[in-house]
Amino acid sequence: MVRAERVHKSFGLVEVLRGIDLEVRNGEVFCLVGPSGSGKSTFLRCINHLEKINAGRLWVDGRLVGYRQKGDKLYEMREREVAHQRRDIGMVFQRFNLFPHMTALENVMEAPVQVKGMSRREAREHAERLLERVGLADRMRNYPAQLSGGQQQRVAIARALAMEPKLMLFDEPTSALDPELVGEVLDVMRQLAEDGMTMIVVTHEMGFAREVGDSLVFMDAGVVVEAGSPREVLTNPRHERTRAFLSKVL
Ligand code: ATP
Ligand code: MG
Repeated sequence: MVRAERVHKSFGLVEVLRGIDLEVRNGEVFCLVGPSGSGKSTFLRCINHLEKINAGRLWVDGRLVGYRQKGDKLYEMREREVAHQRRDIGMVFQRFNLFPHMTALENVMEAPVQVKGMSRREAREHAERLLERVGLADRMRNYPAQLSGGQQQRVAIARALAMEPKLMLFDEPTSALDPELVGEVLDVMRQLAEDGMTMIVVTHEMGFAREVGDSLVFMDAGVVVEAGSPREVLTNPRHERTRAFLSKVL
């Protein structure tokens, strides 16, 4: 579903991604861990083409991100094509970023109506099903300010799912939550994984990574230091840098 080959990304003179190679298979839960500043969010943003890579290749669902290939030549996509490509990718952030003046239901309906041109009626029915799926059947008419952080994050997940993405990116979806609210969000993510969604999850929740993850990559200073099954990497890290990191988060 996602393939990265020697992906580089710099901001000015600072090289943040220094040759990332990895592959995320269909239906896989792919966990990305690493210290602050190692480039995890930047990499997610590259997958979504919110950032443009400086070198290397990146594919989502067999298609180059941000480029069209004709023969041997690459052509940069226009903004419209990029936007179209981005529709297949749902993203959930640390901060929920819900529209504050819209109810949970309206938040979830918004993109299908505005971007896909779905009828309001169809979008509403779809949104109701999604909100039920994330356990918020009784909260649909609430505004974000009337919801807990965990509930808001579940609305954010439903909102991303409303576009029927092929791939979901999660950037530390639980790290802004009070500890007692983390579980309800992880449960929704676990359910999504069981339903077969392909997910890339940046997280410090090693319990989740171990139980739900199929692969785990440890990144440091813009490179993949170590990759394997979560069990392998977490119980038997091969690199000193991985060990040092894990000793802080486990
Ligand atoms: P954290 O765990 O703290 O979220 P991260 O692994 O997600 O860290 P990134 O946010 O990807 O790290 O940042 C990697 C590096 O790139 C950092 O040094 C950051 O300051 C830098 N960086 C990120 N975005 C930009 C930007 N738009 N302009 C300049 N530098 C940036
Ligand atoms: Mg980050």
